[in-house]
Amino acid sequence: PLPEPVGDSAPPVDEHPSRIATVLSHLRRSADTRITHPRRFRLQQLKALEKMLDEHLEDFVQALAEDLGKSATEAKFSEIDVVRAEIDFAQRHLAEWMDSTSVKVPLALQPAMAKVEPRPLGVVLIIGAWNYPVQLVLAPLVAAIAAGNAAVIKPSELAPATSGVLAKFLPVYLDERVYAVVEGGVDTSTELLAARWDHIFYTGGERVAKIVAAAAAKHLTPTTLELGGKSPAVVENDSLASAKRLAYAKFMNSGQTCVAPDYVLSIGDSTELIQRLGQAITSFYGKEPLTHPDYGRIVSRKHFDRLLSMFEQGEVVFGGEYDEETLRIAPSIMRNPDLEGSLMTEEIFGPILPVIEVESFEEALEFIARRPSPLAAYLMSESPRLQSIFSDRVRAGSIVHNAPLVQMVVPTLPFGGIGPSGMGAYHGRHGFERLSQMRSELNKTTVVDTLSAIYPPYSWAKRKI
Ligand code: NAD
Repeated sequence: PLPEPVGDSAPPVDEHPSRIATVLSHLRRSADTRITHPRRFRLQQLKALEKMLDEHLEDFVQALAEDLGKSATEAKFSEIDVVRAEIDFAQRHLAEWMDSTSVKVPLALQPAMAKVEPRPLGVVLIIGAWNYPVQLVLAPLVAAIAAGNAAVIKPSELAPATSGVLAKFLPVYLDERVYAVVEGGVDTSTELLAARWDHIFYTGGERVAKIVAAAAAKHLTPTTLELGGKSPAVVENDSLASAKRLAYAKFMNSGQTCVAPDYVLSIGDSTELIQRLGQAITSFYGKEPLTHPDYGRIVSRKHFDRLLSMFEQGEVVFGGEYDEETLRIAPSIMRNPDLEGSLMTEEIFGPILPVIEVESFEEALEFIARRPSPLAAYLMSESPRLQSIFSDRVRAGSIVHNAPLVQMVVPTLPFGGIGPSGMGAYHGRHGFERLSQMRSELNKTTVVDTLSAIYPPYSWAKRKI
């Protein structure tokens, strides 16, 4: 039986509640009893989540192979290990994060005590995208648990096998009174979004993010929007090491990574860079990447066709092969793309890397500044002067010098976008704070009634004037 609710949020009254309404009202009632608040509970749940990942690693690996053709190695390190690292970091730092901070009170208001304390928000809705279908729902869930919230996760319907594994096992490990998985597509999301939440954490594209924000506005619910965009890579250093880092970040998960370098701006002639990028690709995926076991597939026929149409928008100088049966597209490089076509106006989100030659570093900066602010901006250069100008002039969620993608797995760095690439950030303490209320608390005794000096009538003020 559920404990009696406390607080101001009575469960919704509905004579024929749908499953979603039932799940939500149960969660809300349990969350109102504050069972998620104690540190011990949060740590237990984090440990249970870790146990689920350990005991069902094979189920997740298989599901990711089914949904995206991810290799077992990539599934482990780009999905499971990222979540495990978040869990581990939260477990180690939770006590420190939950601590309240005493703050100073102005002299005129003393004696008094003031503090800021992170408090749970309540019930959080987490909607994930399909490209990293484990990480994108479980890393926000780690933040939600650490912050003492209840949560519903809605994995992407475009990665159905992974969604199924999450729905099957999460309730076995986590406390079902306060954590639930709801599976489904647009209709389910729409129904979930109509409900009242204390925070909505959405990962996906810009178009749907606007639907999410509009739905959240109806209840004045705060949101975190983890979106995408065209993350540029400016290349001044075209060494093989540089090309390998770019190729690795671009072609992992077949380019379906929100922080993959979307396009390259090469300062000066790009012939050598393209040759080294090709060399890097071959060293990773061999001469026949379409059948290489470490190379994944495109998520759906729709996205596959969308990507193929991009091959017509410039000169294909490397790759360009594809397999309609397996939905694989080889790592490809294009030169001199049409700047007005979808390849250069929309997020590519696939294994096609356009290389654009610019005459100067300044021209590269102007190219980036004329376009919407991306999730990340990369500079491949060892020059401290260029690095400093780049970080000063470029507006992006993250600035990374020489190591695209690596910013994602540094738990001390906030991960998120700016403007059209998103709002709010998470990972590590940033996720904990994003899903907490940083509440102020003041305590001023009446024993020494110092406030009486400012009460009306305000004759004391007039005297001063
Ligand atoms: P998607 O189509 O899987 O949609 C994301 C979620 O939104 C899904 O759970 C889906 O059910 C839901 N949804 C779809 N249509 C909806 C609607 N009309 N109303 C309500 N909910 C709806 O994902 P996507 O948008 O194709 O994801 C790709 C985008 O996500 C890219 O732009 C990528 O850059 C971005 N992304 C960002 C991050 C990040 O962490 N910032 C990570 C991964 C992907």
